[in-house]
Amino acid sequence: MVRDSHTSWIPPNHPRKESLLIRERLVDGFEEGYVAAQGLIAHGRGECFDYLIGESSISSALTAERVAVAALLTAKHPVISVNGNTAALVPKQIVELARLVNAKLEVNLFYRTREREELIVRVLKESGAEEVLGVGDDASCVIPELFSERRRVSCRGIYTADVVLVPLEDGDRTEALRRMGKTVIAIDLNPLSRTSRAASITIVDNVVRAIPNMVRFADEMRTMSRDELISIVKGFNNEENLRAALMFIRDRLTELINKGITLEFHKV
Ligand code: ATP
Ligand code: MG
Repeated sequence: MVRDSHTSWIPPNHPRKESLLIRERLVDGFEEGYVAAQGLIAHGRGECFDYLIGESSISSALTAERVAVAALLTAKHPVISVNGNTAALVPKQIVELARLVNAKLEVNLFYRTREREELIVRVLKESGAEEVLGVGDDASCVIPELFSERRRVSCRGIYTADVVLVPLEDGDRTEALRRMGKTVIAIDLNPLSRTSRAASITIVDNVVRAIPNMVRFADEMRTMSRDELISIVKGFNNEENLRAALMFIRDRLTELINKGITLEFHKV
């Protein structure tokens, strides 16, 4: 797959280079047919919140990422849900995380077509995945009270999972999964979305940073005792953690307001 077809125009010293390269990965995924057009818009909403947090992993996010890894490591039946944006942005890292925490990978799409499902399976398999659930007839179980295509899930995957990691989720499904009694880990840059407010563990961070951080934590935490991991999960309060993310944004904006916002230009 050609992944750098659009990137040659980006000057190496461009101040927004990283962000532009990420966009190009999504555009490539869109042109290859597995990122939905709506996924491109959703990314823009995420970028806006990333600007507000300073485009780095804030400390409350790092805490939530560690707690999420502890929840995955202690789960009986952990599942990682993958959509088009996640497959475009962190394909190798999501496969690596699934391997480290012994979770199943499942394709789950809001705009589901057989072609998009299969393209995502191909991306994941090229990134090292052995099995990917949720494709075609495998998605034959139904999440109650949910009306989008996201309600169709694998009976061996999300349907029976006790812990589900849902990067870039929609609010309806997060709520429905919670009502089914599952621990839902969401990655969402918007601390105010319904997803963020409904999840059990919300990671307010960009998936491009959150998943690699979680891979690192999973590698470090694998040797911890079960009791230690359980106490990490028990000591977490999502309401407090979300409050910390909002306070971070508030304080950062206050600092910017006090320090001055406009860029300085010097005549030469
Ligand atoms: P909800 O359905 O939870 O109320 P929403 O309708 O506002 O949320 P959606 O369009 O359903 O939003 O989902 C997109 C969400 O994904 C947004 O909240 C956005 O902040 C988040 N998002 C997009 N790209 C990223 C990214 N790269 N990393 C983390 N979060 C992201
Ligand atoms: Mg939504």
